[in-house]
Amino acid sequence: KAKKHLGQNFQYYQAEMEDEMAERLAMLRMLRQDFAQDKLQLWYQPQVSLNGLQVVGMEALLRWPQGPGQFVSPAVFIPLAEYSGLIVEIGDWVLAQACLQIKQLAKQGFDNLRIAVNVSMPQFRHAGFVQSVIDCVNYYQINPQLLELEITESVVMDEPKIVIDALQKLKNFGIKVAIDDFGIGFSSLSYLQQLPLDRIKVDRAFIRDIDKAAGEVLAETIISLGKRLNLSTIAEGVETKAQEQAVLAMGCDEVQGFMYAKPMPPAELLLFLQQQKK
Ligand code: C2E
Ligand code: MG
Ligand code: MG
Ligand code: MG
Repeated sequence: KAKKHLGQNFQYYQAEMEDEMAERLAMLRMLRQDFAQDKLQLWYQPQVSLNGLQVVGMEALLRWPQGPGQFVSPAVFIPLAEYSGLIVEIGDWVLAQACLQIKQLAKQGFDNLRIAVNVSMPQFRHAGFVQSVIDCVNYYQINPQLLELEITESVVMDEPKIVIDALQKLKNFGIKVAIDDFGIGFSSLSYLQQLPLDRIKVDRAFIRDIDKAAGEVLAETIISLGKRLNLSTIAEGVETKAQEQAVLAMGCDEVQGFMYAKPMPPAELLLFLQQQKK
């Protein structure tokens, strides 16, 4: 009897797994189609210096619109794009959009704002990655120092040699590098020294818990680690004045979060920047 019960459960789980797989494949097909039809958008979230609360740059974030005001979460479709390899093509598009945005902002008088772009592992594995980034910067004739790549700890730990070599070449060309979501992944501190980094992004989890003893000590430790390594630090997910004051007291250089601005489409970004300038 027990055996029969197990068998039924198995059939139930198998059917559920097949449904889930079919759902994901359907979603991937839609993503491919919408990307081909130019329906993905790149939005921008301002990054603010704590020294004077000035906007110093933006992070570029992909948006996949569904209907008016509706989007599929990147947390859902980015892993799908990574798993399928589609992220390589999408990533090329993201880079081109970001470089174009840097050029257009410069034309509007904002010629010292950097744009940070998230980069996934399949992009690094692609043989032409380094050259395609360099070609993109050259094509749009932008200052390479205004382009920053964000990589996560998992990307580094996955293939340290490939990633370190690629970043070194890009760094020699003048491009900036930030380590994203720092502190939540599995990382080896020794890689921090081998990586040609400019900036550490303190993960949102530590900022959220900064009013608790554990969160406070971790945020403070990461920020001082950054300082000791001569890296700039930016706190992610700052939503309240208290969080801002806490990271400021810890010596953090910059902040990014809903308190300052949410990610916004390019036209809105320009208005936001013009407003800030006044
Ligand atoms: P991320 O790179 O860590 O990006 C920061 C995320 O935190 C964004 O989520 C942003 O909207 C959110 N965020 C910023 N400030 C706050 C805040 O104050 N409170 C809260 N609750 N959230 C805040 P988003 O846009 O949903 O992106 C999620 C992730 O998807 C990104 O995390 C990144 O890993 C990935 N992603 C987004 N765009 C791209 C892309 O173009 N390429 C790649 N490879 N990954 C991307
Ligand atoms: Mg990021
Ligand atoms: Mg992050
Ligand atoms: Mg992330």
